Amino acid sequence: MRVEIDDRSGFCFGVVNAISVATATADKMRSGGGTKLVSLGDIVHNGAEMARLEALGLEVVPEDADMALLVGRTVLIRAHGEPPETYRRARENGVTLIDATCPVVERLQKTVASAYKKMRGVSGQVVIFGKRGHAEVRGLSGQVCAFDGNAAVTVVENEADLNVLDFTRPIYFMAQTTSRLAEFGQLADAVRERAADLGQVTVHDTICRQVSGREEHLAEFARRFDVVVFVSGAKSSNGRVLFETVKAANPRSVKIEGPDELRPEWFSRNVAGGFMLRKTGLREISVGVCGATSTPRWLMEQVAATIVRYEN
Ligand code: SF4
Repeated sequence: MRVEIDDRSGFCFGVVNAISVATATADKMRSGGGTKLVSLGDIVHNGAEMARLEALGLEVVPEDADMALLVGRTVLIRAHGEPPETYRRARENGVTLIDATCPVVERLQKTVASAYKKMRGVSGQVVIFGKRGHAEVRGLSGQVCAFDGNAAVTVVENEADLNVLDFTRPIYFMAQTTSRLAEFGQLADAVRERAADLGQVTVHDTICRQVSGREEHLAEFARRFDVVVFVSGAKSSNGRVLFETVKAANPRSVKIEGPDELRPEWFSRNVAGGFMLRKTGLREISVGVCGATSTPRWLMEQVAATIVRYEN
């Protein structure tokens, strides 16, 4: 059996950075005999990785936890970032912040603020393609409140949401970093088509290239193997989307959370369990192991090692 782990699956550099800041800080706090480091929500949507971090001394509280309940604590800001309001509330309540906002997200926050300044001068609208309520989007939307407590950006999730825009006024259109490029392109075209004056539309592609090419890459990867094992946490929306791509490219694909869910018959040439393999003759069975942007490399390695053991 040949087992290969996809090189491009797993954490982006923003998440790698947040995890390394979290582990170093939690370690220092533990050895100093202090309280635990607090994270506002999961650093990454993967149960196994979060269990590992919690065992190292991280305490996870809800992402909208009231800072007044965290007085005197040290709180980590995740790669997704936070709105200025969170920093203000932390200052007011004597909370120490450890900021692990991804530099790409931080740059986008500044872009949103400067787009708002531009649009305010011409009665325009700042529009973000993204998921309403997502931590990064809340952090981006919150940037404009720093100028004016009542200011708002408009978040659109699909073409129907564009109906709320006023196409007679200028529009500055951008995206959450993890949005799909093709969908952003389609919505940008729709905005341009409906605009009364094309010159009033600014489209700014702010999608992060750390994750944007992964679907095409995963489809190619999946096609190369007899069986594909996709590893992802149940809570990961990115995992659900990427697995659809993998399954479409190779129907002999399964999604699991970790090695405990593997079944030896998936890798049997005799098609035991009614699943997967056509007769492959004497040819060695190939297995591809891949995962979401929230899947830790060590977990994919454990999965691959378990599969290899089925041969012995
Ligand atoms: S901006 Fe890119 S690198 Fe940063 S957290 Fe988002 S996906 Fe990861």
